[in-house]
Amino acid sequence: MTAFESKSKLVIGNDRFAAGLPAVKDLSQSRIHDLSDNGQHPFAVIICCADSRVPPEIVFDQGLGDLFIVRTAGNVLDDVGMGSVEYGAQHLHIPLIVVLGHEKCGAVKATVDADIRHESIHGCIKSITDKIEKSLKKVRGAKDICEACEDENIRNTVDEIKRNKVIGSLLKAGQVEIAGAKYGINSGKITFFNSI
Ligand SMILES: [Zn+2]
Repeated sequence: MTAFESKSKLVIGNDRFAAGLPAVKDLSQSRIHDLSDNGQHPFAVIICCADSRVPPEIVFDQGLGDLFIVRTAGNVLDDVGMGSVEYGAQHLHIPLIVVLGHEKCGAVKATVDADIRHESIHGCIKSITDKIEKSLKKVRGAKDICEACEDENIRNTVDEIKRNKVIGSLLKAGQVEIAGAKYGINSGKITFFNSI
């Protein structure tokens, strides 16, 4: 499958979801056995926020074995997450990587709120907000600071993946494509930032 075909499947699947007409999924024993016997062949890597309202298989209306997913609050990546992306692209030969952010992202709002109140964030959550803060610095003065920061944060994760050595060489070889996308929390619709 090409990256274009992969993206088309995702777009068509999201259209079904947003229209309230999801496809019937094959969750049969035979499908489970088939995936066990013949291995997985997912057609897209999705880096998605951990937000419970944005489950990739559901919002893209896909089934078992279709998507290779990395989820973190705020759709940011550390080395462990990036390693998973590398695995999907290099070893599973997945042609498309999508960074899926969303409206009303709690991780982004927490970063923005702490910045406005000049509060420091403690605990492991700081490793998330530190990443998002880099995007926040680029959009200061924006009319809707959270929305602008959500968009910039998606672009930042896309750029980090592009700078990764393994993915970078796959990109150069034309074996993988990367796209940013955003989920409308009220509409259920996903908008891709760039064409493939
Ligand atoms: Zn979120």
